Amino acid sequence: MAKKRETPDQLQHISKLPVPEIESLDEDLQKYMRICTEKLGLIPNVIRAFALRPEKLRTFIGKYNELMLGEDALLTRLELSGIIRSEGHYYGDIRFAPKDSSAEILTHYPANQAAFMRKLFSCCSKARKWISLDMKTAMAHTEQDRGVILRALDSLQHKGLAELQLAGYRQRFRRLQPAVDTPALCQQLADTFHQHEQMEISRIESMLAYAQSESCLTAKLLDYFGEPIEPCGHCGICLGDQPAALHQRQHTSIKGLDLSGFQELVAQHPKALTRPRQQARFLCGMNSPAVSASRGLRGNRLFGSCAPVTFAEVLATRNTSD
Ligand SMILES: [Zn+2]
Repeated sequence: MAKKRETPDQLQHISKLPVPEIESLDEDLQKYMRICTEKLGLIPNVIRAFALRPEKLRTFIGKYNELMLGEDALLTRLELSGIIRSEGHYYGDIRFAPKDSSAEILTHYPANQAAFMRKLFSCCSKARKWISLDMKTAMAHTEQDRGVILRALDSLQHKGLAELQLAGYRQRFRRLQPAVDTPALCQQLADTFHQHEQMEISRIESMLAYAQSESCLTAKLLDYFGEPIEPCGHCGICLGDQPAALHQRQHTSIKGLDLSGFQELVAQHPKALTRPRQQARFLCGMNSPAVSASRGLRGNRLFGSCAPVTFAEVLATRNTSD
């Protein structure tokens, strides 16, 4: 039997460096933390530790989203196929609140940097508290690139001379292939996502089967990784527990539901509702960019009217109707 191990001291601290208070972060990062808390019930340590270096955290979030989220996964695939290339990100909305007059602020910089800062300030627009900077104007006016301007603004914040706010995060992409066979590409992407969906479903099914397993759980896990063992003698099943019994999900059949008027709706919104999968998503209450773009469609009584029915059943009826 393995000896019970204690968590070493250094693992109880999440970072060697100080971990900033959430309230002290920029608005976009605070919002991200709020979403984490809402969706996950916690803020992962890696995110809290990265918060000390906001730019690193933004890059990390960008990369993570690129890999994990639907729309960005699509962009990642287009990038992998060499159709587009990522060119980093930018902020559409940049503003800062100086803590002093510009003359006073400029005394904190050596002459050449002060001249650059003066140029930068002269092309900003000033409201009562916040000074907004339009990146394109600033780049043209100072003849410097984004990076230099952002570093200059960052230095204001770093020196405690101004509070900086960056919002309107956007990813930049360059189109590499001017002529793409769009229908073929769409089909190829749809196939890939369909395969991915099937894979995810079977992963969930095997997880459920594992949870309800009637034989040694450790052996099952190790077997998955190609290492057969005798029953371990210390998992729940080996110690005599009953296998977990999951409640059978109760779901409504689509048969009794009133879908009158749906065909008319489909005819009125061909872009959002022509394909069976689009219809099934709509009826189950799953939004899509095309549905959002069609006025009043989300407010229609049929949106989500099949929510108590399984998606697979709704989809099957869509595939066979018409
Ligand atoms: Zn066991």
